[in-house]
Amino acid sequence: MANTLQGLVISKINYNDYDQIITIFSREEGKLSFYAPGVRKAISKNQFSLQLFATSEFELFLSYHKNKVSKLKTGVLIKDRNLLAKDYDDYLVATLMVEVLDQVIEERTGDDELYNLITNSLDRLLNNSDNLIIVIFYLFKMLKWYGLRWDFSKCQRCHKKEGIKTISFIDQGLLCRGCITEKDYLFSIGLIKEIILWQDHQFTVTAFDNKTFVTNQELMLLFKMLCEYYLNVVGIFSYSIKEMADKSIYFK
Ligand SMILES: [Zn+2]
Repeated sequence: MANTLQGLVISKINYNDYDQIITIFSREEGKLSFYAPGVRKAISKNQFSLQLFATSEFELFLSYHKNKVSKLKTGVLIKDRNLLAKDYDDYLVATLMVEVLDQVIEERTGDDELYNLITNSLDRLLNNSDNLIIVIFYLFKMLKWYGLRWDFSKCQRCHKKEGIKTISFIDQGLLCRGCITEKDYLFSIGLIKEIILWQDHQFTVTAFDNKTFVTNQELMLLFKMLCEYYLNVVGIFSYSIKEMADKSIYFK
């Protein structure tokens, strides 16, 4: 019997002459890979549903044994995000978001909150012209899924709640006026207040529809620090970060 799942295409690998192995993050079953026979033939109706970053509905023959692979019956495209592939900067940022997702999600474990976070964040990348704030927001949010609990309620050195001045990647939270040293980078208080707002569960990425953040030196520095933190402390592998650093995209 076939099961119907809604999911986001996060990777695809060519297999044989006409086939692909597709990995999706599904709302119902979490991460799942399946064999998609014949989808590289020009006549395949399923190929549209399998584009990278697309959300589609898949009818699958689900395998319940680890050594057997699930198989695609039909795929119907719900939303393509092809525009993300047209702009190379957007493509790299979207790739980073999916890389960070892929390395934390579990096979066959649905997670509505995470599903909404990634799909809504990718949609904001499509809609907004200035995208760095979206990926910075996403990278801060994703720390929770990696089990890293930053503390945004008080200074991490003296535990005072007043006089907050900046954030620290070493201390994983806030620092106050009295505790900062010349080694700590001072972000603007407006940006720090914004990051504190993000910790509220009610805050979602849709809030960025009504706000404008111009990608400036400060945002690029914060993004670079987040990327280094994900590589060196969280321990992810990332093709997109290397590519952005090599090509000086957001890494200036
Ligand atoms: Zn302090």
